[in-house]
Amino acid sequence: MKCHYIQDEIAGKVLIPGCWGTVHSNDMSDCYCDRSKKSPEQVIEDLKEQVKKLKKQLNEKTTNMQ
Ligand SMILES: [Zn+2]
Repeated sequence: MKCHYIQDEIAGKVLIPGCWGTVHSNDMSDCYCDRSKKSPEQVIEDLKEQVKKLKKQLNEKTTNMQ
């Protein structure tokens, strides 16, 4: 099961962790439930794509500053 919140009468909004990412941080942004379904190779390819996009963004920003 993916990480999700439940509404508890006493405690209020409670995070139910589905992966270790949120267990440690208690922060939903650290959830990797979706990623864990992919193979490590797929995750690496996705991350490479993200790095490409970030490099492009950085290039654009540094070009604009000059
Ligand atoms: Zn998760």
